Amino acid sequence: MKQRSTTERYTLADLENWRRTAGDVDPPIRLGVFGDPVAHSLSPQMQNAALREYEIRVQYARFHIRANELRSALRFLRQLDFIGINLTVPHKIAAFAQIDAANESATRAGAVNTIRVRDRKLIGSNTDGEGFLRAIRSQFSVDIRDLRILIIGAGGGTGHAIAWQCALENCERLVLVNRTLEKANALAERLRPFFAGPRVLGPVARLEAVAWDEAALRAQLGDVDLIVNATPVGMSPSDPTPIPARLLAPHHMVFDAVYSPSKTSLLRAADEAGARGANGLSMLLHQGALAFQIWFDREAPIEAMRRAL
Ligand code: NAP
Repeated sequence: MKQRSTTERYTLADLENWRRTAGDVDPPIRLGVFGDPVAHSLSPQMQNAALREYEIRVQYARFHIRANELRSALRFLRQLDFIGINLTVPHKIAAFAQIDAANESATRAGAVNTIRVRDRKLIGSNTDGEGFLRAIRSQFSVDIRDLRILIIGAGGGTGHAIAWQCALENCERLVLVNRTLEKANALAERLRPFFAGPRVLGPVARLEAVAWDEAALRAQLGDVDLIVNATPVGMSPSDPTPIPARLLAPHHMVFDAVYSPSKTSLLRAADEAGARGANGLSMLLHQGALAFQIWFDREAPIEAMRRAL
C-alpha cells in the first residue's frame, strides 16, 4: 500500500481518474478541501490530526479546483466514496446552487463551506458563522451580541455567513462594506428585520451598507468596536491592507479571517494603531470542529486539532 503525504495537492483530472490516482492510498482519502488557491490551507493538518486521534482510517487532502471546474468536481464527488468536503475561496456561494440539499445555516447565508455526501447526494451546511462567533469569544473574550461590527467583504461567502451570525445574535450594530456595493445593499435588506429593535445607540443607524472608500470608512469607524476582514486580501504578503492604519484606533478589535500568513497586512496596521488583532486561525479551528461533527455525528477532538495548528 502507498502511504501518501497529505500535503499533496490533487486536481480535477485526479478526481476524474480517482480510482487510478488514489485507489491504493492507505488510509483512503475520503475527505478534503476544494479551493483556488488551496496550497495555504491548514485544514488537512487539522482534520488529519482529528482522524488520527479517533483512529478513523481516512485521510483528508487538498484539491486545487478552479471556479470553472466546481460543477464537474461536485459531479465526481457524488460518484465517489467520499464522506464529505470543505469548500473555500472562491466556491462557497457558487456551490450553494449546485448541491442537492442545504441545512438552515447554508440556506441563510446562501453559501456552503461543508458538504456531507449521503446516498450520492450532496448535503450542504455552513459552519463559518458559528466558527466566527466562537473565535471572537476565545480571541477577545467578548460576545458578538455586545459589539458594533464592521465587515469588509460582506458580498462573499464568508462575509455572508458572518453577517448572518451577527444578525442572529442581534449585535449592537452592523456595517456591511463591499467592493461591489450592490451586494452589501442586498444583504442589508435581508438582514433589516433583525435590526428593527429598540437598542439605543444615539444618532447612528444600527444597520448600514457603505461603499469601500476612505471617507465612508472614516465616518463609520468611530461607532465600531470590531472590524472583520472577510476578503482574501492579505493572503499574499504583498497585498495592501484593506483598512489603512491611519483609520484604526486603539479601541478597535481587528479580526482577519485570513490566517496565512499569520501576520497579515491588516494585522500589521492594527499593531501600528495600537489596536488588538487576531488572525483567522481560531475561526479555522472552530468551523473545522463543527464540520467534523457534521461528517461523523460526534463531537470533534478539538484539543488534538488545536495542537495540530
Ligand atoms: P469569496 O466568496 O470569493 O468572497 C470574496 C469577497 O472578497 C467578496 O466580498 C469580494 O468582493 C471581496 N474581494 C475579493 N477580492 C477583493 C479585492 N482584491 N479587493 C476588495 N475586495 C475583494 O471568498 P470567501 O470564501 O468568502 O473567502 C474570503 C476569505 O476568508 C479567504 O481569504 C478565506 O481564506 C477566508 N476564510 C477564512 C476562514 C477561517 O476559518 N479562518 C473561513 C472562511 C474563509 P466583491 O463582491 O466585490 O467581488
